[in-house]
Amino acid sequence: MGPIGSVLNMKYRDLQIETQRQSPNNARTEGFSLLVRAGYLTRENVPTKLGEYTLRQLNHLSKDPSFLLTLSLPTMENENETFFPIQSGSTEIIHCPSCKYTERIELARFVKAALPSEEGLPLEKVLTPECNTIEALANFLRIPKEKTAKALMYTRISDNKFIFVVVRGDMQISEEKLKQHIGDFRPATAEEIERSGAAAGYASPIGLKDALIVVDDLIPQSRNLVSGANETGFHLKNTNYWRDYSAEIVADLVQAKAGDNCFNCGNPLSVVSAIILASGKESNFENTLLALAETHHDAKGLTLPHRAAPFDVFLMHIPGKEMDTGAKSEEIYNSLQSAGISVLFDDRDERAGVKFNDADLIGCPIRITVGEKGLKEGMVELKPRNIQDNRLVPIEKIVEEIRSLLK
Ligand SMILES: [Zn+2]
Repeated sequence: MGPIGSVLNMKYRDLQIETQRQSPNNARTEGFSLLVRAGYLTRENVPTKLGEYTLRQLNHLSKDPSFLLTLSLPTMENENETFFPIQSGSTEIIHCPSCKYTERIELARFVKAALPSEEGLPLEKVLTPECNTIEALANFLRIPKEKTAKALMYTRISDNKFIFVVVRGDMQISEEKLKQHIGDFRPATAEEIERSGAAAGYASPIGLKDALIVVDDLIPQSRNLVSGANETGFHLKNTNYWRDYSAEIVADLVQAKAGDNCFNCGNPLSVVSAIILASGKESNFENTLLALAETHHDAKGLTLPHRAAPFDVFLMHIPGKEMDTGAKSEEIYNSLQSAGISVLFDDRDERAGVKFNDADLIGCPIRITVGEKGLKEGMVELKPRNIQDNRLVPIEKIVEEIRSLLK
């Protein structure tokens, strides 16, 4: 990655880099901790000058549509979105470890198995006191939740239409899926529920007035479900779609969960917490930086891949007794820059150990050290971040060496 524009001076002091020995105590992940310690982010998760510079560079890289693939990140993706799995992530996705199917949990498809078919039994009204939840109802009647029908009531925004939704009692509605069929909606008010003839907590689609009935596609395949009686304290046993009511819309309306079977390959699905790296043409560079830090680090700091590192080279000098190593490193800094190599120049008069630690934390791919001993032989020390050994390189060969390492 070459320098992009000349907005920032690349000297350590001008970038006001501040590294930290200790992890911030609010660190939720190792990657975040290292980004703070290496001076890319503040503890409050705000990018510093160095962070801003790195984010701009990622933005620049993203002009290449395949850029995320070049960063060696363990992403999960579908045609439209790229996710990075991380425990602290706020987006839940469904992922199939076998075929790699990946989708936001609220939109994921899965195999929906109907219960074994049985004869339709006659409707029967039963007293069910204080059974206004599926849980309480199933306990009271000693039946599994999948033998109940769960009612959800909404009002469509565009025309105030009352919407009555039925899903099997063991399943969770996906409001995102519902929205794809009916448009935007809000919860129905108590008044709207009453006007339709339903009773909150004891509602069923049977005998409603002016309601748009929408059912999950498992409902027409489910026999003898217990459903509300539209009368507080009562339920109906053995409600059957077709015989007792029907719907204007039958569709997949429920959310997948861990262990459900993949729609593509039939294997069990996982639920994974993630952050979004890209959605459509929009990239999230803050999340990408976090994903890079989570993926590419060791005990000493970041080990960013060459394409994503803010600088190709971390250049430093060890203050000398006889020679002005600072002036010599300034010369090297200028010559590397004119060769199109981006350099972070640690121009402080700090001890070598402090600078080495910072170089490891910040994680540029190559460190170059200008010291008195080497200079006497016309050499500088070159060390790739990911390799233990360092070696001496003649000053006139540095550019060539760096180019071959960064290929
Ligand atoms: Zn699969």
